Amino acid sequence: MTERKTRVRIPKENKVRAELQKEIGSTCPFCENTEVGHFEIHHIDEDPSNNETGNLLLLCPICHSKITKGDISNIEVFKKKIALLKEPIISKPKADKAITFNAKVGNAVVGDNNKISINQPKKTVKQKYPEGCIGFDTVKANYIGHLIKRYNEYKEYEVGKGNVKYGVFGATLKKEFKIGPTRTIYNVPIERFEELYTCIQSRIDKTKLAKVKGVQHKNYSSFEEYVNEVG
Ligand SMILES: [Zn+2]
Repeated sequence: MTERKTRVRIPKENKVRAELQKEIGSTCPFCENTEVGHFEIHHIDEDPSNNETGNLLLLCPICHSKITKGDISNIEVFKKKIALLKEPIISKPKADKAITFNAKVGNAVVGDNNKISINQPKKTVKQKYPEGCIGFDTVKANYIGHLIKRYNEYKEYEVGKGNVKYGVFGATLKKEFKIGPTRTIYNVPIERFEELYTCIQSRIDKTKLAKVKGVQHKNYSSFEEYVNEVG
């Protein structure tokens, strides 16, 4: 059952197009094609009614169809846009920069502060968990959150953003660790922390993206590394 989103004509399309063209330096961000007159506007989140600049990317028709076919992944497109937002190929004068947008790609949000934030099923863990469970230890809890987020990102690659059921993984874990429905995965007793993270790590390793990247690729930080990273 696919819900078709309706295409809305991009308001001030010419102006938007000019802006997007500037952003890519009149060159296809994926293949160096410069026949910009033939370029098409891609909706990054695949919602044709979301015409915010942050959701749009101008690119050549060949690369556009590669995205449609999945030869260029949504993650690649997303990363490309972020890179362009960080360093537009031709920088614009600061004064006329008044873009506000808040594009959503899957569970990620691109803001006009050029930062990506990933909305996790579980937000930053606050001290609302009783002593003796993982949620009580912020670092450990955040590491679990970090791994769950990574799993969902990898899953996004596999099934396409929009198709990831973000709550399902947490629910599966809860079941495995016998956590009641009114509680969260952070209610797992602290003694089972290693068991829990090992379980999530092995699930990440089994995803298609982990297999594509190969065994040499590091899919996540170990708990030790994570502790060092967050200081
Ligand atoms: Zn191209």
